[in-house]
Amino acid sequence: MYDYIIIGSGYGGLSSAALLANSGLKVLLLESHSLIGGCASYYKRGDFLFDVGATTLSGVAENRPMGHLFKTLDIKPKLKKMDVGLVVKMDGKELYRYAEKDKWIETSADFFGNKSENKVWDKIYKTEEMAWEFVMNNYGLPPSSLIDIASLIKASNLKYAGLVPAAFNSLDSYLPKLLLRKENYYRFLSEQLLITSQNSIKDTPYLTAAMGLAYPSETYYPYGGMKSIADLINKKFIQCGGEIKFKNRVNKIEIEKEGYKISTVNGNVYHTKGVISNIPIWNLGIMMDGREGEYFKKKAKFFDSAWGAFTINFAIESNLAMPSAYYQVHTRTKIPYSHGNSMFVTFSEPDDFERAPKGWKTVSISLHTDVSDWELEDYEDYDRRKEFVTKKLLEEFDNQFPEFSDSAKVYVLSGTPNTFEFYTKRYRGYVGGIPHSLKKSLINIPPNKTPFKNFYIVGDTVFPGQGIPAVVLGALNIHKKINDSSIYGTKFE
Ligand SMILES: Cc1cc2nc3c(=O)[nH]c(=O)nc-3n(C[C@H](O)[C@H](O)[C@H](O)COP(=O)(O)OP(=O)(O)OC[C@H]3O[C@@H](n4cnc5c(N)ncnc54)[C@H](O)[C@@H]3O)c2cc1C
Repeated sequence: MYDYIIIGSGYGGLSSAALLANSGLKVLLLESHSLIGGCASYYKRGDFLFDVGATTLSGVAENRPMGHLFKTLDIKPKLKKMDVGLVVKMDGKELYRYAEKDKWIETSADFFGNKSENKVWDKIYKTEEMAWEFVMNNYGLPPSSLIDIASLIKASNLKYAGLVPAAFNSLDSYLPKLLLRKENYYRFLSEQLLITSQNSIKDTPYLTAAMGLAYPSETYYPYGGMKSIADLINKKFIQCGGEIKFKNRVNKIEIEKEGYKISTVNGNVYHTKGVISNIPIWNLGIMMDGREGEYFKKKAKFFDSAWGAFTINFAIESNLAMPSAYYQVHTRTKIPYSHGNSMFVTFSEPDDFERAPKGWKTVSISLHTDVSDWELEDYEDYDRRKEFVTKKLLEEFDNQFPEFSDSAKVYVLSGTPNTFEFYTKRYRGYVGGIPHSLKKSLINIPPNKTPFKNFYIVGDTVFPGQGIPAVVLGALNIHKKINDSSIYGTKFE
């Protein structure tokens, strides 16, 4: 019998598995695909390595989730901090989101002609700093039991009281009205929020908006792509005695006397004292009967939608050094079937030979799309639509990056919500997590600890939400709860 079975090897599941195995527990990781990583996985074509989804790493400072994970597991990925965390291409110009705060404020003030930029960004950076400090020091969030509430009531938390209104008021209520009336400023903020909080200026709480808006101050490029970090975490897991089984898609979780019985589509059955599910809440309810199934179905119904992604990967022959690996490009023409008016473009660094040979770069483009636009009855319609969007996106890329107009593109491959659903099994191909919203706030988002004995949930559809640092924070919190006998009892309830 295993101590814990982890279902899914996305960053949330993989980190949970490595942390628990590192603490001496007997852990089995079940993955339906043949590779680790989920939405941050990869594929290879020829000499090239492509990320399927996530490309940007943040939260790496020692007191933030990735830094904390690397330290605990004693792993040292090869990362490069970007001095320009992100380049925003808009209105025919380039706006550098410098990592250094003062340099960014000065650049932004020049670009938008706003005198009050320092006040706005000082507040955003301060809120972000405090929010990280608060979540890293309190793992009873969102409080779901008296023990959680008791763990939050301490003198050292008083200084975070200012974060409470920030969690329940929108970004626009914190910004000067004059600023918001500037069309290009409003558009800049809207597109930045869409790729971070997945929501609009009016409906994103200031707290999570600040965390999203400040992220280019801490953007890291992982050599060898997201794969390289997942590989290190997995290696540590195996070294600590963990077991991973691929092509094991879980389809049933049942309660039994000493824990849980886990069954897979290919007929395997495993027994465990505890479970950590890394699959989205939308997928979980149907795997369990009774009260447990109802609990997850109810959560899934409340958070009933999310965005899909359209992606394109290809390689180009070019040696060009770029100011940043990451670009947010405001599109000149609306890309069909896209939500928002921007695309996110990632270039591999010229000296990253794990991703591309010398003289070549990989390019990844992604944008938000509505999943229902891809749920077509007729496969030929679907193919035509996919080809059409691919063509439009590539035209936009050529217009926006004329420096590559002579470079041939090879291995051009695009993905839709259906592609994500096929490879990650995520319901309807919803990715990127639950949008941060005032209507459905962080307080409502399912906590990592469920009401069921030794049953935890981790990933971008549960607290604290979307993105790799967030799902890793979920894993760190679960690890602390399981380990912290002084507050939460023993490793097993
Ligand atoms: C296009 C795109 C770009 C993004 N860019 C960034 C970025 O730059 N930076 C960033 O931080 N975040 C980014 N994100 C978000 C980030 O990738 C995700 O939030 C994060 O990777 C989700 O991790 P997760 O642990 O929730 O699990 P997932 O990645 O969803 O993994 C779940 C795993 O469970 C497996 N699984 C599913 N069902 C079963 C089953 N029944 N049995 C067994 N296994 C199962 C899946 O195969 C998968 O491996 C991006 C996402 C997308 C789609």
